[in-house]
Amino acid sequence: MRFFTSEFMDELDRACARRRETGTTAALLLVGIGRLDFVCWNLGFDGGEAVLDGVSKYLDHVLPPGPRSEIWPGKFAALVPVADVAEAMHYAHRIVATGSVPHAIEGSALFAPPYVGVAMVEPNYRSGAELMRDALFAMEDAKTHILGNTRLYNPAQKNRVGAAFRMETALREGFETGDQFSLAFQPLVAIDGDAVRLTGFEALARWTHPVLGMVPPDRFIPVAEEAGLIIGLGNFVLWEACRQQVEWSKLSDRPVAMNVNLSPIQLQAPGIEDSIAEAIAVTGIDPHLLKLEITESVLAGDIPDLGKKLDRLRGTGVSIGIDDFGSGYSSLGQLDRFGLDFMKIDKNLIQRLGPEARQTELVRLTIGLAKHLGMSVVAEGIEDAEQLRILTELGADVGQGFYFSKPLQPTLAAAWLRDDYWMPPEPVIAAGTTARSNSSALT
Ligand code: C2E
Ligand code: MG
Ligand code: MG
Repeated sequence: MRFFTSEFMDELDRACARRRETGTTAALLLVGIGRLDFVCWNLGFDGGEAVLDGVSKYLDHVLPPGPRSEIWPGKFAALVPVADVAEAMHYAHRIVATGSVPHAIEGSALFAPPYVGVAMVEPNYRSGAELMRDALFAMEDAKTHILGNTRLYNPAQKNRVGAAFRMETALREGFETGDQFSLAFQPLVAIDGDAVRLTGFEALARWTHPVLGMVPPDRFIPVAEEAGLIIGLGNFVLWEACRQQVEWSKLSDRPVAMNVNLSPIQLQAPGIEDSIAEAIAVTGIDPHLLKLEITESVLAGDIPDLGKKLDRLRGTGVSIGIDDFGSGYSSLGQLDRFGLDFMKIDKNLIQRLGPEARQTELVRLTIGLAKHLGMSVVAEGIEDAEQLRILTELGADVGQGFYFSKPLQPTLAAAWLRDDYWMPPEPVIAAGTTARSNSSALT
């Protein structure tokens, strides 16, 4: 049975009543299956069905007899008689342990690891629907929790999911009104010579909500990704950044690049190459000055035919680099495979540069690796003269950080294009002072 059944909901209602009337304890376990999309992409829906049949079998094996239902494809619910929380979590852990070995399908070994949310049947539940709602919060939390994939329901999960839902609604409304989103531009500067010199800007999305005020991208980008809004937002950023670059290129003879962040979801979307080619053709930006930043996790992820996709993107003339390198997952082999143009070293690595030799060594090796692979090196998050000095010595090509400037409104960013603004009066390294202490920011 692949759908939520009224029989199963009746069972949950009865379990809640029994808990209130006789004290009989039980738990609702919701089991989600990770990477089902990946299995279907590679082996079609038959592959997905084979995985789900395998899950049904191991649930029969691991759990004691009791009401069971597949509430929607890839999500299983089981009502389990248990003495206490410990026993409920024991079953959850067994499901994860059993389901985390590969499924052998059509000669391939495929991982589709489960995650489990658990809600105990408590006396305060008035209906099975309330119990189901809380188990869903726990399952959602289990899916994203970094400390493993079993979670027991607690009210904080409801608050978190509720907050994400409210933000999603506000984001949708923001899109409809159309005037809540803008771009800030953070200067990128060449640090490979004696003087700091502007080479480009990174376009950063800004959301100003009428009540919440300025919401940081670290908070709204993940919600936009989850809610499918990132494609529209990403397109807005891409087109606006290209348009702005073309406008600025008329103000200055110096070529100024424009860096744009590309979410993994955008990269996965079919036809991303065409929409980038279209933005280039319509805005008239020189594609050699458009630089796309992809996150480290993309390289370690499951995007089918990523290499070919990146090649086609590069075919439009743009360059592609890895953002936040050193913050997460990528394996060195992946870096080599995709022949990327530039590497941005994560600000956490840069900000720990200083007297501690170990950190400096780490950054030196990272820069050496990038250079060896033919990539230029951008150091992000430079906050003081000492970090700049070390990075210049280690051979980084480009710097970005509050030491030079925070992300700026377009009018202030344009001021960087004027001669007296982009070249500091004294060489920064010799002066040891903040190059742009006077620039007001839009952060
Ligand atoms: P990112 O792409 O790594 O962008 C750099 C972030 O570091 C920016 O934060 C910038 O303000 C911050 N930063 C720059 N210099 C310094 C410094 O010296 N010290 C510190 N502490 N921070 C510094 P912001 O604008 O809050 O953006 C955060 C992240 O949100 C971005 O990280 C990027 O991953 C994402 N993001 C922003 N705009 C977009 C967008 O248009 N599309 C996508 N997909 N993601 C975006
Ligand atoms: Mg970036
Ligand atoms: Mg970054």
